[in-house]
Amino acid sequence: MAGAGEVAWVLGIVAWYIIRYPFERRAKRVRVVSDRRSTAEAIGLGAALLGMSVVPAIYIATGIPQAADYPAHLWAIIVGCALFFSAMWFFRRTHKELGKNWSISLQIREKHELISGGPYTLVRHPMYTSFLLMALGQAFLLSNWVVGLAGLIGFAVLFFLRVDKEERMMLEIFGPRYQAYMDRTKRLIPYLY
Ligand code: SAH
Repeated sequence: MAGAGEVAWVLGIVAWYIIRYPFERRAKRVRVVSDRRSTAEAIGLGAALLGMSVVPAIYIATGIPQAADYPAHLWAIIVGCALFFSAMWFFRRTHKELGKNWSISLQIREKHELISGGPYTLVRHPMYTSFLLMALGQAFLLSNWVVGLAGLIGFAVLFFLRVDKEERMMLEIFGPRYQAYMDRTKRLIPYLY
C-alpha cells in the first residue's frame, strides 16, 4: 500500500498544473495596471512552492527525511484523496470565476472586475481555501511528519503574508463595494473564519 499516497499526490499536482496553465497564458495578455509585488510576496510564494511541491517531490524521489516516516494507512489515503480532489474541483471553479482577473501575485489588471459569484459567494478567498485543502490532502497522502507539516506551514506563510495586503488593495480599488462584500463573507471557511 505504501506508494498509493505518493501516486495520488503526483496525479493531484499534475491536475493542479493542467488547471492553472491556460490561465497563466491568458493572464499574460491582460495588462497589469497596479502591481503590489513585494519581498513579503516573494517569500510567501517561495514558502508555498517549497512546502507544497519541492519538499514532497524530494520525499517521493528520495525518501528523505526517512526518520520522520510513519506507517501509511488506507483510511488516511482515502481521506487525502478526497481532500485533494475537492481542492482541485474548487481550484478550477475559482479560476473559471476569476477569469481575466486572475494573477499569481497581488496585481490589478486592466478592467479589473470585482468577482463575488460562484465559489466567491461562500468565502472571499476560495482559491486559498483550495490551497488549504491541498496542504491537508498532502499531510494525509504522504506519511511523513516533516512533509505533512511543510505543506501546512508553506500555505500559512503565503496566506498570512498576503491576505491583509490583498484585502487592502481590493478596498483601495473597489471601496465600499469590497467593504460590503467583506461584511457578508468570511475569508477561508464559511461561517468560521
Ligand atoms: N484571494 C482570491 C484570489 C487569489 S488570485 C482567492 O483566494 O480566491 C490573486 C488576485 O486575485 C489578486 O491579485 C487580486 O487582484 C484578485 N482578486 C482577489 N479577490 C478578488 C475578487 N473578489 N474579485 C476580483 N479579483 C480578485
